[in-house]
Amino acid sequence: MIKKYGLIGRKLGHSLSPEIHEYIFEALSIKGSYDLLPMELDNVPSFVSNLVKDKYIGINVTIPYKMDVMPYVDKISKEAAEIGAINTIHVKDNILYGYNTDYFGFEMTLKNFDIDVKNKKVIVLGAGGSAKAIIAWLRDNNVEEVLMLNRNVEKAKKAFPETKIDSYDSITPSFPANIIINCTPSGMYPKPDECPIDIDNFSGLEVVIDLIYNPEETLLLKKARDKGIKAVNGLYMLVAQAIKSQEIWNNRKIPDSITGYIFNELSGRKNIVLIGMPGSGKSTVGKILAKELDMGFIDMDNWIEENYGEIKEIFKRGEQAFREIETLAAKDIGEKRGYVIATGGGVITREENIKYLRQNGIIYFIDRSVEEILKDIKHDTRPLIANNIDNINKLYKDRYSLYNKYSNVKISGDTRLHEIVNNIIINFKGD
Ligand code: NAP
Repeated sequence: MIKKYGLIGRKLGHSLSPEIHEYIFEALSIKGSYDLLPMELDNVPSFVSNLVKDKYIGINVTIPYKMDVMPYVDKISKEAAEIGAINTIHVKDNILYGYNTDYFGFEMTLKNFDIDVKNKKVIVLGAGGSAKAIIAWLRDNNVEEVLMLNRNVEKAKKAFPETKIDSYDSITPSFPANIIINCTPSGMYPKPDECPIDIDNFSGLEVVIDLIYNPEETLLLKKARDKGIKAVNGLYMLVAQAIKSQEIWNNRKIPDSITGYIFNELSGRKNIVLIGMPGSGKSTVGKILAKELDMGFIDMDNWIEENYGEIKEIFKRGEQAFREIETLAAKDIGEKRGYVIATGGGVITREENIKYLRQNGIIYFIDRSVEEILKDIKHDTRPLIANNIDNINKLYKDRYSLYNKYSNVKISGDTRLHEIVNNIIINFKGD
C-alpha cells in the first residue's frame, strides 16, 4: 500500500518538499506519495482531525499554520512544546503526535558544516517561527551568549521573554558576534537586493548562516563569502528537517549520506534562460537543451497563454497589458530551479523581468542575424513580427544592446542547431 504524506500551508507555490521526499522514497525504497496541500486557515482543523480517517501517515506543516495545528494533535514532543510550533505530525495507532524537525534540521546543518557554537557569541536576526526553533536549540545546547535583533523589539520581547533582544541600530559594534543566523525573509526571492544587517562592523565574525535557500546565495551570504567568512544557506536544513520527519514517520535512522546526496542534487541547480529576437530559435533550442540536460522546459509565451489567455487577445488591450503579464510570469517562473526557459523576444524591455530571471538563472543571448531570422518567420503569427519585415529590423536595432546588456553569455545563432545547443551545454556545464 502507498504510504500517504503531505505538506499543509497557505501558499506552497514552488515548494521543494515533494522533490526532497521523492528522493527519500527512492533512496529507502518506500512506496509513498507526498502531496502539496495548500489550504486556508478555516480548513486546517477539519483537515488535521481527519488525518486518521484519510489514512495519512505523516504531514508536514509550514507557514503560517505551525502554531495553529497544535490544539489538534494528541501528544507534543519536548522540542515542539518548547518551541511552541509543530512542523511534523505523525499518525500512529490513531493518535496524532506533533514534532518540530526544524530544530533537528538546524542541528544537522551545524554538524554537516562543522560549525561549533561552543563559547561563541551568536546573533539571531528575526523573531518569528524559525527563530523559535533556533533559539530553543541554542538554549538546549547551552550557548550562553545569544542576542536577538528584530525590527519590532516589543513584539520580539513578548515572544521571547527569556532572550536578550535589541534593535538593529543599537547593536553594532557593542556585541562582538562570531556567528550570525538570519531567521528573517530579508533577501529572499523575489527581493534579492535586501540584506538584513551590515556585517562590516563585526570584526570577529566567523560564520553567517542564512535560513533562506532561494536564492541559494543571498546578498548577506555573498558579503560574508567576499570577506572570507564561512557562509551557509538554509538548503541543508530544509533537507535535514525532511529527513528527520521521515525518520519519525518510518521509525528508522536515515544515514547522513542520504541527506548529503539530496542536498548535493538540489544545490547549485540553475535555470538556463534563453533570450533573443523572435525567430532566433529559443523554443527549439530550449526543448532540445531540456531533453539533453534532463531539465524541465518552460516556454514563457505558452505559460502566459495557459495562465492568462491567448497572447493575441491580450495584445488587443495594448502592448503594455501584455508586458504587465509578462512581468508576472517572469516573477513566477524565475523562482523555479532546474529549468530551461525560453522567453519572449520582448522580455528585455523591462529590467525587472531580467532581475527575476537572473536570480536562479544564467541568461544566454542567442544572437541570430535578421537575415537568418527572416528565413524562418515568413509565416509567423506573433503580434509584433507578423508580416512586417520593417518591424523586425527596427526591433533588432532597438533591442540588440539590451540583449547584450542583460545576457551573461552570448551564443551565435547563425550556426547549425546542434552547435548552438552544444555551445550552451559546454558553457552551462563549465559554469
Ligand atoms: P516569520 O515567522 O514570518 O518571521 C519573520 C521575522 O523576520 C519577523 O521577526 C520579522 O520581523 C522579520 N522580518 C521580516 N521581514 C524583514 C525584513 N525585511 N528585514 C528584517 N526583518 C524582517 O518567518 P519564519 O517562519 O521565521 O521564516 C523566516 C525565514 O526563514 C524565511 O525566509 C523562511 O523561508 C526561512 N526558513 C527556512 C527554513 C529551512 O529549513 N531552511 C525553515 C524555516 C524557515 P518583525 O517581527 O519586526 O516583523
